[in-house]
Amino acid sequence: MAHSHEDDASAGIMLTTIEGIAGWGRSNSQWPVTMGLACCAIEMMAAGTPRFDMARFGLEVFRASPRHADLMIVSGRVSHRMAPVVRNIYDQMADPKWVISMGVCASSGGMFNNYAIVQGVDHIVPVDIYLPGCPPRPEMLINSVLELRKLIKDEKFFGHRKAIARRAEQAALAA
Ligand code: SF4
Repeated sequence: MAHSHEDDASAGIMLTTIEGIAGWGRSNSQWPVTMGLACCAIEMMAAGTPRFDMARFGLEVFRASPRHADLMIVSGRVSHRMAPVVRNIYDQMADPKWVISMGVCASSGGMFNNYAIVQGVDHIVPVDIYLPGCPPRPEMLINSVLELRKLIKDEKFFGHRKAIARRAEQAALAA
């Protein structure tokens, strides 16, 4: 049977629609992994309390197992001793997955420009959002997740693995 341009067009529309629905679903269902590294983690925990109430956005379910999580919040400086653990947790997380680097220490080493601290967690894992501050306030963390959601919504459904591979490659090159 002849394959018409209309078929291609409707298949394209269908794919775009599926991607849109998948993007919408993904963007509204982050499950962060329970992982606190330093003082920034105190603010991350505060974000879950009734005062800041990240539950408003369906975000309060921190998972004790990385297998159940798709969001890593790197909350504080990463020591070289901890780096393989962070990478291991990242590798065990469900795919697709995202990373927020919380605070200047996680993003660049911050004030800890020394032999013990990794000078930016993107040497270890690919980072989607860099959140400035020392520490960032809980509202800033919640806002960074909302910004991440915008990125996730527009992400290509079938291109995600490629995007992850590309970012992992960049992280390896930066290391
Ligand atoms: Fe602690 Fe500030 Fe570093 Fe966060 S950015 S881990 S609050 S020193």
